[in-house]
Amino acid sequence: MTTAGTTSVAAHAAPGTRATLYVVATPIGNLGDLSPRALDVLKSVAAICAEDTRHTRQLLAHYGVEKPLVALHEHNEDALAERLVARLVAGESLALVSDAGTPLVSDPGFRLVRAARIAGIRVSPLPGPCAFIAALSAAGLPSDRFVFEGFLPAKAGARRERLRQLAAETRTLAFYESSHRIADALADMVLAFGSDRPAVIARELTKLFETVLDGGLGDLHATIVADPNQRKGEFVVLVQGAAEDADARIVEGRRLYAVLGQHLPPSTAAKLAAELSGAPRKALYGG
Ligand code: SAM
Repeated sequence: MTTAGTTSVAAHAAPGTRATLYVVATPIGNLGDLSPRALDVLKSVAAICAEDTRHTRQLLAHYGVEKPLVALHEHNEDALAERLVARLVAGESLALVSDAGTPLVSDPGFRLVRAARIAGIRVSPLPGPCAFIAALSAAGLPSDRFVFEGFLPAKAGARRERLRQLAAETRTLAFYESSHRIADALADMVLAFGSDRPAVIARELTKLFETVLDGGLGDLHATIVADPNQRKGEFVVLVQGAAEDADARIVEGRRLYAVLGQHLPPSTAAKLAAELSGAPRKALYGG
């Protein structure tokens, strides 16, 4: 096997006997979160593939590490993967890092890792920080099953459609969001999931202004809109899934009620939403 399995020839090689591509997680804010083993590996490799070399140089300078850096980003990864695999085949071990957190999680690296595995190269993960896992660990939302959705589409129409498709999803949903879109994204989540759906906004994790807010989506949206400071920084948004026994008509009715309620009095919105979805009118308030 050369893909995801653990039975590949490369996976059985004794550590240290052949070139390895190390996939190294780096801090998402607090520099103390780089693991000692990650540091050892970064010191040991021939070169480090980094998304933004200036950013990674700062991280390395903090630890007194000097290494050749190779810029590997979305736009050159395809072209570069072959050259990097050739170096690995020739016996050089390399590390892959992204600007923050775990490479390949909403970050470059998938094509390089795939190419390395196809070439029979040993690929070894150095686990560590990952923003949505950190958020999930502190959120108090069901975490036994979850769906990582990464960034929502930037355009409003596509974003609303994606959220609409997720309205009946029963697993906890995890999204990444930036400061300039957080308010709009939350407004669209209220429309798609209803204002009472439990959610958590995890902002600036591991940094000075770390904030983890929980509540119904409607209240969270109001908080973010009211306080410009709460719109600063980097965000993970977690949304509890729809109830397991949720009636599809009620899920759709609540979505329609939230949308129509923006333009019509609540009683008219509820009447129309009930008619259109087939859900009982009473079930559209709350939940
Ligand atoms: N590879 C990274 C990881 O493992 O989490 C994610 C990279 S993605 C390009 C960057 C996004 O992750 C940010 O826009 C934000 O949504 C989220 N993020 C990164 N650092 C964060 C932090 N300290 N607090 C909250 N969210 C963060």
